[in-house]
Amino acid sequence: MNTTGKPDISREKSAELYEKAKTYFPGGVNSPVRAFKSVYGTPLFIEKGDGCHVWDADGNQFIDFCCSWGPLILGHNHAKVREKVVEVIQNGISFGAPTALENELAELILKHNKFIEKIRFVSSGTEAVMSAIRLARGYTKRDKILKFEGCYHGHSDSLLVKAGSGLVTFGETSSAGVPKAFADETIVIALNDKEALQKAFEEFKDQIAAVIIEPVPANNGLLLQHKEYLQYLREISAQNGTLLIFDEVISGFRLGFEGAAGYYGIKPDIITYGKIIGGGMPVGAYGASTQIMDTISPVGPVYQAGTLSGNPVAMGAGIAQLTELLRSGFYRDLNAKAEEFAEAIQRFATARNYKFKVFTIGSMFWFAFTDKDIRKAEDIDPASMEKFKIMHRELLNRGIYLGPSGYEVGFVSSAHTKVDLEKAKRAIFDSLDLVFRG
Ligand SMILES: *Cc1c(COP(=O)(O)O)cnc(C)c1O
Repeated sequence: MNTTGKPDISREKSAELYEKAKTYFPGGVNSPVRAFKSVYGTPLFIEKGDGCHVWDADGNQFIDFCCSWGPLILGHNHAKVREKVVEVIQNGISFGAPTALENELAELILKHNKFIEKIRFVSSGTEAVMSAIRLARGYTKRDKILKFEGCYHGHSDSLLVKAGSGLVTFGETSSAGVPKAFADETIVIALNDKEALQKAFEEFKDQIAAVIIEPVPANNGLLLQHKEYLQYLREISAQNGTLLIFDEVISGFRLGFEGAAGYYGIKPDIITYGKIIGGGMPVGAYGASTQIMDTISPVGPVYQAGTLSGNPVAMGAGIAQLTELLRSGFYRDLNAKAEEFAEAIQRFATARNYKFKVFTIGSMFWFAFTDKDIRKAEDIDPASMEKFKIMHRELLNRGIYLGPSGYEVGFVSSAHTKVDLEKAKRAIFDSLDLVFRG
């Protein structure tokens, strides 16, 4: 029984599959965010997706705002992406030798992105960031990196590090299995804090190879930074001979074709991509100026390789998806639709005096149970997640699928129609009423 006194939707088949999965995989999943650890119930096993909808093993239909955690900006099973994948597969799946498809995807990106001159394809966001960090260290011949509390950069050792106490701290490992010596090379400070940034550069003068930031931090709530702060970060990095890395694995091709760099008009030294770039297939990439990129093997001394890097099927999916994004008005229409959606929800909550905020940029949104302006990780009240938990369950019961954590952002895709968004709004309004009025 849920808050409304009605039974939850049927989830028997998913529950059965989950029991089985638990005997095969730790926690029954192949990535921890998929487990329903911070919401009610157990993971829904998805059977198919089409447009903005997914169907689970019990036949329930949902309007999906998770969109595979961001990659599916065109929605599920987009005809152009599917057709291209099928076409490429006819000729074989992998060669371990160059293909024209790699050139084609690179050209699509580099022609329409003034912030990078060369690119290298890898197979995930984690790999892109890990390689970008090695590149920055090799290029600057320095070891330390500076990151921000509340930014996620994948699961490589140097980046599974969280802030200790104090303004500028050596990180503490945020996962078992990461040697302390790795964490000692990573400095962690709060977002949106100029003073901490200055202090870090004073304390570690000439030692910081790179500063890495999600220019739109979207993995721990949506912690929107002021443009002016990002500009300051650009300046102070340059003054100190430190490379600025924008981790655009989420924001790349999402805020616009040129991602957050284009949105803010700020040129970082290295940019990492993932998610959208592969059209739903496993692709990551990092790019920079020719001078920086030529530090990479086989031209330069920084080694980085991959058996399946630039995989033709994945390149095909990326080419098909990015081609759609380059159509005139694509981002204008998508962002306008998402903005209207977020604003309507905010208006509803404000009119009812609910302590609830919708943070939004481009086609991403985050529901926060607060009345505060949230700009850094410590501004988020963990107790507010109890409310998200109720909302999540009520939304599933009303055919709306959000990622199973209140710290995750939602995505609107071009496949979400006005009708779908109207339906979603009504479900969200009902759920908010239940959360706040019981
Ligand atoms: C998702 C994400 C990653 C990790 O990418 P994976 O493909 O999951 O390895 C890294 N950085 C950011 C900003 C991300 O959103």
